[in-house]
Amino acid sequence: MTVNMRMPESLASATGTITVDLAQIVTNWRALANKVAPAQCAAVVKADAYGLGAERVIAALARAGCSAFFIATPDEAELARKLAPQACIFALDGLVGNSAAAFDRLSVTPVLSTLDDVVAWSALSRSRGAKLPAALHIDTGLNRLGLPVRDVRRLAAEPTMMAGVELKLVMSHLASADNPRDPKNRDQLLAFETLSALFPGVPRSLAASDGLMLGAAYHFDLVRPGYALYGGQASQSSPAPVKPAVTVAARILAVADVVPGETVGYSATWRARRPSRIATIAAGYADGIPRSASAPDGRPGGHVLISGHLAPIVGRVSMDLITVDVTDLPEGAAMPGEFAKLVAEGLTIEDAGFAAGTIGYEILTRLGHRFTRLYLDDTP
Ligand SMILES: *Cc1c(COP(=O)(O)O)cnc(C)c1O
Repeated sequence: MTVNMRMPESLASATGTITVDLAQIVTNWRALANKVAPAQCAAVVKADAYGLGAERVIAALARAGCSAFFIATPDEAELARKLAPQACIFALDGLVGNSAAAFDRLSVTPVLSTLDDVVAWSALSRSRGAKLPAALHIDTGLNRLGLPVRDVRRLAAEPTMMAGVELKLVMSHLASADNPRDPKNRDQLLAFETLSALFPGVPRSLAASDGLMLGAAYHFDLVRPGYALYGGQASQSSPAPVKPAVTVAARILAVADVVPGETVGYSATWRARRPSRIATIAAGYADGIPRSASAPDGRPGGHVLISGHLAPIVGRVSMDLITVDVTDLPEGAAMPGEFAKLVAEGLTIEDAGFAAGTIGYEILTRLGHRFTRLYLDDTP
């Protein structure tokens, strides 16, 4: 495994780094594929591969043999096609604006969620004299994107609406799969079985990272994990067979003494009750550290790891900076110029999300552009 440092000179002055272990992402994908076999395991790489860099992640997964990718937008489709020329690429947002022609040119499969989109894609297919591929997203209770039951039944009764279209997948999305005990999972499973049966012979997909942990009944022909590929644990009670693939670090800029009675940060929300040492770290809400990770009195906030020791964020998270209490750390553990870890072994993305009243997904996808992204290569 090699560290591919593409910009060593910028690393020397980097305020923060995100280290993405491509080999671990590939290992995670293989473990999930193994778990769901004989169902196929696709990779969800929308939002720049959850903020980690679609360019490197898609290329690595395609090299490993992943042959189906899900992205959301037309721009993401264009990039995915470039990186995975042979793969099946599904565009979850469907026909956004005038993207149909581009999807046709790129051989991207739109995920159709409205009858208008179905009719438009069918018209394009017929005018092209080609069988253009599409996936059908049906709603089974999430009430977000997806054809409502009435429209699914109408489409099944009037197949001419889809004339010329090659239906490659029928899919739906679960609302509460992170909680295996929620009866909504079973309701959606039954609804999906009933509605997808209206399109006999078409491959089916229901589960994302959390859904695939609900058992084989939820796997159908293809599963669509995103978060778990990156080492995220989406299910509240069944750990996925994956390991963390991301480390986030930011530079300690200064370490200072604060005398009892003094306050730290905007609005003076934290007051020293003892002689304290405060480290100021070069990452703030502009870098995706939630302002809600500030610890108001009475609620624990976020932490960072410094030389292996947890240190609590104190005072308000500001735009470029956080302040952490390092009073209890061994002498010399927190040194200006060194890196504090914001996500690492012992401080998961779930921990970071929970401490800020959000989820690991939001932590991951909001990490900003000021972090230098480093990649541990998937190739020896
Ligand atoms: C984002 C998304 C996924 C992937 O979800 P994860 O929880 O990250 O695995 C799968 N399907 C749909 C429809 C999505 O929007």
